[in-house]
Amino acid sequence: MSDIEKVVIIGSGCAGLTAAIYASRAALSPLVIGGLQPGGQLTMTNEVENFPGFPNGVNGFELTANMKLQAERFGARFVDDTVKDVDFEGDIKKIICERNTYLSEAVIVATGASPKFLGVKGEKEFFGGKGVSVCATCDGAFYKGKDVAVVGGGDTACEEALFLTNFCTKVYLIHRRDALRASKLMGERVLGNKKIIPVWNSVVDEIMGHDKVSGIRVENVQDKSKTEIACSGVFMAVGHIPNTQQFAKYLRLDDSGYFCRKENSFVETNVDGVFVAGDCADKVYRQAITSAGTGAMAAILAEKYICKKI
Ligand SMILES: Cc1cc2nc3c(=O)[nH]c(=O)nc-3n(C[C@H](O)[C@H](O)[C@H](O)COP(=O)(O)OP(=O)(O)OC[C@H]3O[C@@H](n4cnc5c(N)ncnc54)[C@H](O)[C@@H]3O)c2cc1C
Repeated sequence: MSDIEKVVIIGSGCAGLTAAIYASRAALSPLVIGGLQPGGQLTMTNEVENFPGFPNGVNGFELTANMKLQAERFGARFVDDTVKDVDFEGDIKKIICERNTYLSEAVIVATGASPKFLGVKGEKEFFGGKGVSVCATCDGAFYKGKDVAVVGGGDTACEEALFLTNFCTKVYLIHRRDALRASKLMGERVLGNKKIIPVWNSVVDEIMGHDKVSGIRVENVQDKSKTEIACSGVFMAVGHIPNTQQFAKYLRLDDSGYFCRKENSFVETNVDGVFVAGDCADKVYRQAITSAGTGAMAAILAEKYICKKI
């Protein structure tokens, strides 16, 4: 069992690392529990073009490694451990990890959300800069003047498809059913857009290419026929899994498993002294900058909580 920390930050993605920078600069000497993916999702991409301050883009791994150095410079400490359970009952919160148990006055949970994949051939090989993406806002601009496919039929898939029409010539929307699951208004906007070509009753069988994606093969779920579609990019929009289950006993979750925030607060939860930041509490924006933003907010409020200012 550790001494009582002032603040423990769970997760070392953009949200956790930014919280660590702010908390360390507030002289709280935060302890960051890094989890299985130090640096978070951004380490999976070579090219981040939308994080402010980098006119020529920045490698995702490098960006988060620098955030960690920045936090360490002001006294943040990092442990290589993973949370498996928590006890948020009393004033001192208990964080039970694989290797150790930590005690803390305040906790910032920044555990992110993992994108879902299809598990088809070619998906892993071409992921991260070679044509398979999970984020149109992040990668859409790389496909200017090209044809792409979006996989999914919910609101997220429709939003991704519409966003991609800003750059792409054709956007194939691959959906396993014969109607969209998205809201009526969103569905109408998608089906009314001439650049979007719905491919109904179809699932992706394989993502094809040599060095990068050159097309996909889809299978019709009704007659089992297979068709090849030429495209340069495939955007998976089949959902995310928020990494929140270890906290569900204490922190309220919404229907999709994301943390709920207190009304009128970006980062406060139903438990005093426990704050949430980043993608684990955000199914709308899911960006490095928004995660960093809420990480900063969580650290500022954690400091106020510890000093009994809120
Ligand atoms: C391939 C790819 C490319 C992207 N490109 C861009 C881009 O160009 N621009 C952009 O703005 N956004 C991009 N994004 C989105 C961006 O990466 C995320 O919005 C951002 O990383 C979210 O940060 P986060 O800190 O909330 O969560 P994450 O980055 O998901 O980090 C979560 C952290 O929590 C830790 N963790 C999870 N569970 C536990 C546990 N039980 N115990 C301890 N630790 C735990 C993990 O180890 C990890 O360190 C991209 C995402 C992907 C997947």
